[in-house]
Amino acid sequence: MIEFKRVSKRYESHDALRDISLTIDTGEMAFITGHSGAGKSTLLRLLLLLDRPSSGELSVNQRPTSAIKRRGIAAYRRNFGIVFQDHQLLFDRSVFDNVALPLVIAGFGRRDVNRRARAALDKVGLLDREGANPASLSGGEQQRVGIARAVVARPRILIADEPTGNLDPDLSAEIMELFRAFNRVGVTVLIASHDLALISRMRHRIITLHEGRLIEGEGR
Ligand code: ADP
Ligand code: ADP
Repeated sequence: MIEFKRVSKRYESHDALRDISLTIDTGEMAFITGHSGAGKSTLLRLLLLLDRPSSGELSVNQRPTSAIKRRGIAAYRRNFGIVFQDHQLLFDRSVFDNVALPLVIAGFGRRDVNRRARAALDKVGLLDREGANPASLSGGEQQRVGIARAVVARPRILIADEPTGNLDPDLSAEIMELFRAFNRVGVTVLIASHDLALISRMRHRIITLHEGRLIEGEGR
């Protein structure tokens, strides 16, 4: 479903990604790893059309993203739920309102918003905290709210950039189990992480970048 064909990304004189050929199947769960500066975020940014390849082709669901023009980008991005390292929650509103926000923006009616937001909070085990301010939650709980918000509109692909970067090992493992639970119900999951110890234990596919190149054989 996601296919990079000989994709390179050059910033001024620096190659952030070099000749990346990579296929990720529908329903797969995969990790992207590599040192800081290896190109992990750049790869995710290209996938989300926050940036465009300098050369090569990126296709999602058989469709070359080069054919997606500016006005098609919002619809394209609805395929994706995004989890950030620092969760990016809004502290001026409740946990419920944070999770509901993507649905409100998408124009869902109040009953659907309520039902879906509560279902998402239930999946991450935080239904009893719906009225709380996110600032009163622990770091692990805040990240779970971030995941509920990412999945609330039922995206087919879940993207996370260092989602456990600020968490201790036990909480990190819990967060990874949550991703795994969404993967089990059919969501394609792609997680950038430099925590090799953690992701090795997960026994899912690992894709390694080194100075913008993919390690031989890991693109499939
Ligand atoms: P990672 O996420 O693996 O740490 P990045 O994708 O953020 O790596 O960065 C890969 C390389 O591209 C780095 O050398 C980084 O400095 C460079 N880079 C990333 N974004 C930009 C940009 N907008 N302008 C210039 N250089 C960039
Ligand atoms: P970096 O610090 O690596 O340059 P950002 O802080 O801009 O990256 O964002 C981190 C990641 O979050 C990006 O790699 C991208 O996957 C995602 N992201 C950032 N901004 C947006 C946005 N406006 N819409 C969707 N995803 C975004």
